[in-house]
Amino acid sequence: MEKLVALCKRRGFIFQSSEIYGGIGGFWDYGPLGVELKRNVKNAWWTDIVRKREDVVGLDCSIIMNPKVWEASGHVVNFNDPLIDCKKCKARFRADKVFMVVAADGENVLLQTGAEADDAEHAKEAAAAGANSKTRRRLEKHGDKLAWTVHRVDELPEGVTAHCPLCSGELTDARKFNMMFKTFVGAMEDSTAEAYLRPETAQGIFANYKNVLDTSRMKMPFGIAQIGKSFRNEINPRNYTFRSREFEQMELEFFCHPDSADEWYVYWRDARFKWYTDLGLTSSRLHLRDHEGRELAHYAKACADVEYDFPFGLAELEGIANRTNFDLTQHQEHSGKDLTYYDDQTKERFIPYVIEPSGGVDRTTLAILCEAYTEDEAPDEHGNPQQRVVMKFAPRLAPVKLAVFPLVKKEGMPEVARKVYDDAQAAGMAVFYDEKGAVGRRYRRQDEAGTPFCVTIDGETMENQTVTVRDRDNLTQQRIAADKVVQYVAERIV
Ligand code: ATP
Repeated sequence: MEKLVALCKRRGFIFQSSEIYGGIGGFWDYGPLGVELKRNVKNAWWTDIVRKREDVVGLDCSIIMNPKVWEASGHVVNFNDPLIDCKKCKARFRADKVFMVVAADGENVLLQTGAEADDAEHAKEAAAAGANSKTRRRLEKHGDKLAWTVHRVDELPEGVTAHCPLCSGELTDARKFNMMFKTFVGAMEDSTAEAYLRPETAQGIFANYKNVLDTSRMKMPFGIAQIGKSFRNEINPRNYTFRSREFEQMELEFFCHPDSADEWYVYWRDARFKWYTDLGLTSSRLHLRDHEGRELAHYAKACADVEYDFPFGLAELEGIANRTNFDLTQHQEHSGKDLTYYDDQTKERFIPYVIEPSGGVDRTTLAILCEAYTEDEAPDEHGNPQQRVVMKFAPRLAPVKLAVFPLVKKEGMPEVARKVYDDAQAAGMAVFYDEKGAVGRRYRRQDEAGTPFCVTIDGETMENQTVTVRDRDNLTQQRIAADKVVQYVAERIV
C-alpha cells in the first residue's frame, strides 16, 4: 500500500486535503490524474445505469435537506457507531474495530494486548506488529505451537479486560455517537436552525420519489439514480481514502412491486458484481458476499456486498439490499404525503419495494488503483531490461488516453506531433503532449500515469506520414498512418 500511496502523491492522483496546513483527518483531494480517473468511474456508472437504460432516470439533490428527512429515515436516532475511549490517553475507537489479542504457548502467555483492526485475523497481525522486538522474536520461535485468542472489546467474555491498543490503558464501555455532521441554516445558531450534511444520497431520492413519478411518466418497475457527496463523521478515518469523512456515493433506488422484489434483488446483485469486473476488477480479489440473516438491518429482506481484497484486508465497495417498503412508508408517515403507487393496469395501489445498489466512488477508485498497480520489466532505449511501475487501468478509465511525443525537438517533428495532439483534443480525448527528455523516460512517466497508448513521431513519419503506437501493457509498437491515430485510440478506449 505504501508504494501505491507514494505513487498517487508523486504523480498527482491523490493529495492530503489542506496538506500545507498539516492536513485534516479523513479528507482527501484528487489531483489532475485522480480527478480524471474518478470522473471516468462516475461517467461509467452514469452511462451504464442511467443513459443505457430506459427504466432509470437521474437526479441531483441538495446536500442539506429539511432535518425531518433524517428523522424519518432513522438517521437521527440510529446512525450511531458504538465508541470506546481510553481513560488514560483519551484516544477514541470504534468498539467493533478494537480487539483483545492473547497468544500463549500452554500456560505461558507471550502476548496480551489490545489491537485496532478491521477483523480478528488482522488483529493478530496488528498485535504482533505492535509488540516489542523481544516479544516478536519469541512469537516467531514458538510459531505453530501458539494458541491465539481474539475477542472484540465489545464482546469480551466475563473476566477479560480491554486494553487500549495505543497505551494499554483501561477502556470505557461502548457508547453511541451520531455520525452526521451538524450545521446551522440562516443567521441563528439555535436548535431551530440545526441541519445536517447528508450522510447518504439515497434519502434525497426517496424525498423526490413523488416528484419524479409525477413528472417523468415512469412506470413501475423503475429506478432513480444519483451520484453525489456524502459526509460521515467517521471515528477512525483510515486505510487511505477507503474510510473518509467526505466521500462520493453512486446510489440507485429501484422501485418495484413487492411480488417482484426478490427477482429484482437477484438481478441487481448480479448485475452490479458484473459491472465491477467489466470495469477491470477481474482478479480474484473481487468477491460477492451474501449477508447472513443476523447481519441484515431490521427493515432489509436481503443484502449482499461487493467486496475487494485491499492490501489492508477484505472490505466493502458496494452494498445491494432489498429495503422492502421501509423508506417510503417512513416518509409517508412523517410527511403526511401519499407515497403509494397506483397501477392503472391491475387497479392495485401499493407502496413499492426498493432494491438499492449503493456504491462508493472513492472506494471503487481506490480498488481500481490497487488493481492497476503493477511492477514489471521493460527494455530501455538500449534494449536493457529495466524495472518499471505501470498502472494497468482499463482504457475506458485511464485518466489520459493518449500521449504524443516528437522523437526530437526539430526536423518538423514537433509540428506533426502538435497536429496529432490537436486532432485528439478536438475529438474530446484526454491527451498529453511531451517533448522533454529521452523518449524512454517519457514512456515511463506515461506508464505510471496508466496511459494506454503513446504515439511517437520520428524520422520515418517525415517520409511516409506514419507514426508508432506503443501499447502500455504488451509494449508492442505498431506503425499506423498519422491521420488514423485518433480513430485507432477511440476504437480501443470504450
Ligand atoms: P462501512 O460498513 O464500511 O462503514 P456502510 O455499510 O456503512 O460502510 P453504506 O452505508 O452501505 O456503507 O454506504 C454505501 C457505500 O458508500 C459503501 O459501500 C461505500 O462504498 C460508501 N461509503 C460509506 N461510508 C464511506 C466512507 N466513510 N468513506 C468512503 N466511502 C464510504
